Amino acid sequence: MEEPIKKTDEQWKDVLTKDQFIVLRQKGTEAPFTGKYYANKEKGTYLCAACGQELFSSDTKFDSGTGWPSFFKPISEDRVTRKEDNSHLMERTEVVCSRCGSHLGHVFNDGPAPTGERFCMNSISLDFKKED
Ligand code: FE
Repeated sequence: MEEPIKKTDEQWKDVLTKDQFIVLRQKGTEAPFTGKYYANKEKGTYLCAACGQELFSSDTKFDSGTGWPSFFKPISEDRVTRKEDNSHLMERTEVVCSRCGSHLGHVFNDGPAPTGERFCMNSISLDFKKED
């Protein structure tokens, strides 16, 4: 993991758009089938939109049919932090960027082989670096 990043809400507001701030820093969820990456099939790397840490490879992306970009594993387990989330009357596992603590989405146990996990991410929490 790269150097941890800590910023105040005011500092995050300076570097994120309003919609990014709502999802990344206030744990919002973008509407399904509206984000820029759920249907992206290009080869490359997905980064944290808040701090730039590399999170997911396109090699682990799959079409979950949910309308959110979905991956069966992160680039390495230390890129993400899992947190218990009991909000909205559901027991879920939240996924945040391990470097800056920004909200990325949730992970579920109904993913494909080889991990059986489904990292359900918000497009707006990610940036995409296309492979050259
Ligand atoms: Fe980050």
